[in-house]
Amino acid sequence: MTFQALGLIAPIQSTLDTLGYKQPTPVQKQAIPAVLAGRDLMAAAQTGTGKTAGFALPILQRLTMDGVTGPRAVRCLVLVPTRELAEQVYESFRSYGGNLPLKSAVAYGGVPIEPQITKLRKGLDVLVATPGRLIDLLDQGAISFAMLQTLVLDEADRMLDLGFERDLDILLAALPKQRQTLLFSATFSDEIRKLAGGMLRDPVSIQV
Ligand code: AMP
Repeated sequence: MTFQALGLIAPIQSTLDTLGYKQPTPVQKQAIPAVLAGRDLMAAAQTGTGKTAGFALPILQRLTMDGVTGPRAVRCLVLVPTRELAEQVYESFRSYGGNLPLKSAVAYGGVPIEPQITKLRKGLDVLVATPGRLIDLLDQGAISFAMLQTLVLDEADRMLDLGFERDLDILLAALPKQRQTLLFSATFSDEIRKLAGGMLRDPVSIQV
């Protein structure tokens, strides 16, 4: 099984060649076609399984194929529980999207908000963010989700463990209802299932 067989376009394929990714991992084999087809996803996957590429590659492809009409606005939001994960996921989007005409940005708390606001004003396609800082940015009118197409919740179980449930409710209320939603979690507790039940529409389930 190659990445090409999963339907990825040549510029992404060539980035993967450069990175030395020869074969998709099990989570990528399942996630990439489902995300390309526009489906919602509920994926049980730990760190180290290649889950980040599992969502980043097909999202980058869809954004590229759709093209950009009008001013750039956030079309994909990736919510993560910690700044470390935010940096990692952002770096993945930058690296996988290296040959694509797309812009990504990252926003998390504990650092000044002004540079993040300046970056957002310049326009972007993908935003990776932690919930608290994202709410601050929304409150300041620094960001609009009118063009949002895809929401990813990464490490949803850690998000709940760290007490982000209320923040998630606030953010979900600010996002378009009509969207693609992908939920990744290492474990699937009753709480996660409840969260997924309220967010996902007819999701493809993945277990690795
Ligand atoms: P993740 O589970 O997303 O944190 O990814 C774990 C590590 O696997 C990262 O360092 C990726 O660069 C690497 N990786 C992801 N997919 C592949 C692949 N198909 N082939 C080789 N390495 C990969």
